[in-house]
Amino acid sequence: MANPEDMWQCQTVNCGYIYNPDKGDKKGKISKGTRFEDLPEDWKCPICGATRKNFKPLAGPGSAKEA
Ligand SMILES: [Zn+2]
Repeated sequence: MANPEDMWQCQTVNCGYIYNPDKGDKKGKISKGTRFEDLPEDWKCPICGATRKNFKPLAGPGSAKEA
């Protein structure tokens, strides 16, 4: 089970997709166990197509809750 710090949520309106490193991203051909930090620079949200800059961790430094 991934830590909340390792799970990143898309911040665009009406999306809410959460990247879980335990699952990876089938659509983006990201294999299981890939950390968000290790995703390719051009990776995009499989739901809305937002770039990585639109994501924030669920917990820890830089998270939406702490902002
Ligand atoms: Zn999204």
